[in-house]
Amino acid sequence: MAAMQDTPIDSIPQAYDTVTKAFLSGKTRPIAWRKAQIKKLGFLVQDNEDAFVRALEQDFGRPAFETITAEINPVKAEINEVYDHLEKWAKPRRVKTSATWYATKPTVYSEPKGVTLVIGTWNYPITLLLVPLLGAISAGCTALVKPAEQAPHVAALVADLLPKYLDPTAFICINGAIPQATALLKLKFDHIFYTGSGTVGKIVARAAAEHLCPVTLELGGKSPAVVLDDADIEVVARRIVWAKFTNAGQICISTDYVLTTPQTEPKLLEALKRALAAFSANPAASSSSEKSSTSLVHNPNYSRIINQNHYNRVSKLLDATKGEVVVGGGRDEKERKIEVTIVRGVKPDDSLMSEEIFGPVLPIMTLPTLDDMVKFIQSRDTPLALYVFTQSKKNRDFIFERTRSGGFVQNDVLVQFMIPGLPFGGTGAAGYGNYHGRRTFDTFSHERASANVPTWMDMIMASRYPPYTQKKLKM
Ligand code: NAD
Repeated sequence: MAAMQDTPIDSIPQAYDTVTKAFLSGKTRPIAWRKAQIKKLGFLVQDNEDAFVRALEQDFGRPAFETITAEINPVKAEINEVYDHLEKWAKPRRVKTSATWYATKPTVYSEPKGVTLVIGTWNYPITLLLVPLLGAISAGCTALVKPAEQAPHVAALVADLLPKYLDPTAFICINGAIPQATALLKLKFDHIFYTGSGTVGKIVARAAAEHLCPVTLELGGKSPAVVLDDADIEVVARRIVWAKFTNAGQICISTDYVLTTPQTEPKLLEALKRALAAFSANPAASSSSEKSSTSLVHNPNYSRIINQNHYNRVSKLLDATKGEVVVGGGRDEKERKIEVTIVRGVKPDDSLMSEEIFGPVLPIMTLPTLDDMVKFIQSRDTPLALYVFTQSKKNRDFIFERTRSGGFVQNDVLVQFMIPGLPFGGTGAAGYGNYHGRRTFDTFSHERASANVPTWMDMIMASRYPPYTQKKLKM
């Protein structure tokens, strides 16, 4: 795949005019047209699986297995779900009303919001771009889509494929970085769907406010994994460390840090080490010394850090920690790889607790009681995900009822993104709005209220007209 070409800034208004005209022409409204485009989006993914896998290998060495299972398959599932349910979701809905208003046939129409903008990010650059685009298509909107420049091979592939599969007057890819994003944000959209950091999320929300444009912000944050004394430690360890291994922990809903008790910490650490050693077997190793090595630096099953900036950022957090590195710690700047690194003895003011790690470093903090853990979580920004490992419903409920988070999972990680039927989105610092399944359609739709008031109803409504007499007040 050729390198990503930046879209010239001065061509952005023309692209905007094209998708605006396409929307105003009405051609995106018929359900049949939307379904045909959704089908083509499905073919875009299906026909080009290998190209997507290669692009992600080039962008950050992500193994094919992870691209297929965590991006291609979930995107296909979303496309199928929206395709299968679109008629039902888009059907006008008569609402229940009072006897007085029954004759007005009050009805809610799910109408396309209009011309939309989707800004994607790089860590899951297929699903985080194409699923919001699916939402725009399904709702009858048009869209400009901006892939993340940090994953340039995927961005180039999307720019190449979009006009080959989708209506090029309704969906246009804009490639580039901050200059292109800034030019886009000056335009008046009817919805902006942004995935990325909170810092940029604020820039997007401010720009959108100028046009009173509604926004979905899919942001990040520090998502805790609370491990209680009654947890099934072997399984817990596998699951927690998996969320740091896969995509090298560059996941918005990764287990950012562990909160556990001083009693459970030692056995958890041992189990985490065992789990990581098992994951680190190198399938490409030829010699027996390579086979027994658990170094992740040359392991093809393990992704790179996306770029030098993020490599430096995570390295700096690790260098500044006052905790004790108990597992991993190896890195290779040339390979841009940082091993899964577990750090114990971490205090609330540690560098590793200062910002979302968004990488393969796992700090472990201990607190004596459940109550202390809840207070700690409450004192921090609302996380995108909260994971609680316990066999006890009472403990689970205690935490659930006293905290807030985008999603909540007992005894597992990451699955809230995959389970059909669950909405995905944050609250507080983790963003607002959500999508997946029906919400993907709803996000890009406006619920337009409609009533048809028969003129004969003036027989019963005439009292509303002036003059306002005392007699009318008593009616
Ligand atoms: P980022 O926020 O810098 O980039 C994401 C997008 O924003 C890119 O398309 C980029 O071009 C654009 N962008 C960057 N600067 C901009 C500016 N000044 N104006 C307008 N647009 C701009 O990416 P990042 O910080 O590396 O992303 C990581 C963050 O994203 C983490 O916090 C992570 O948790 C979050 N994230 C959230 C989700 C989710 O679904 N909630 C998914 C993935 C990542």
